[in-house]
Amino acid sequence: MPLPLIHHPGYTIELPPRHPFPMAKFRVLRNTLVSEETEIRAEWITPQPANETSLARVHTPDYLRAFLGGSLSPAAQRRSGFRWSEALVERTLLEVGGTLASVEAALDTGLACNTAGGTHHAHADAASGYCLINDLAVTAAHALAKRWVARILIVDLDVHQGDGTSRLFRHDHRIFTFSMHGAANFPARKQHSDLDIALPRGTGDDDYLAHLKASLPQLLAQFAPDLVLYDAGVDVHADDRLGHLALSNTGLFARDHYVLATCREAGLPVAAVIGGGYDRDLKALANRHAQLHRAASTLT
Ligand SMILES: [Zn+2]
Repeated sequence: MPLPLIHHPGYTIELPPRHPFPMAKFRVLRNTLVSEETEIRAEWITPQPANETSLARVHTPDYLRAFLGGSLSPAAQRRSGFRWSEALVERTLLEVGGTLASVEAALDTGLACNTAGGTHHAHADAASGYCLINDLAVTAAHALAKRWVARILIVDLDVHQGDGTSRLFRHDHRIFTFSMHGAANFPARKQHSDLDIALPRGTGDDDYLAHLKASLPQLLAQFAPDLVLYDAGVDVHADDRLGHLALSNTGLFARDHYVLATCREAGLPVAAVIGGGYDRDLKALANRHAQLHRAASTLT
């Protein structure tokens, strides 16, 4: 069966030169995956932009008005990491739409991956750390509202804590938030996920995988989700500009394969997003992100 991969050319917009966010990585990732067409048999899906009803399930009316209408304060824009533009709004809605489409496809086929997504620092009323709308939260809330599923596990393995998602769902027992991240990293003020594992600087492949294998099967057994959202951030890589952990490309593949295979063996649908990854070398960065799609393609 082909693997549903979700992509929109509008994921990438122009940013000023030397902007620290690697906006072109989505395009380079798509090109990388297309060049591996024979190994990765993909069914490419083009998402629609997310609509306001779905955003309003997790974000406040004031914040949505300011973000969609272009009246975010200079301080709010600085905290977001981006200068506001209409193009930024459009790409954000496409990215959230991509994660929504990933869940729809995963519920259909068992496994689907976005080629963007994982904007886990966005709070109900504020953007933060390159995250404007929380795609994981919007998607989880949507799947519950539509009664597609009743219990969702969010596995967030980006190197940064999924603070926005954890805070949004701290009182929602239908959603379990699991974040494994670098202890000494953004955000300075951590939130309480349902399970947090904070790793020391320099953690490498073996220790990282040992922590994961000690937690995930138990979570699946105890929480008994009927859908898993997986944030496969590659900023855990040794060469990442922001990460401070020390995973290799082999370690990334092993991690992603382990998460996806464990969930699939438990009969659970999984929708995956690529999460964070920061490197000026976009080819190297896209190659790290592609480990997710390569791992997924071995399971379809
Ligand atoms: Zn990150």
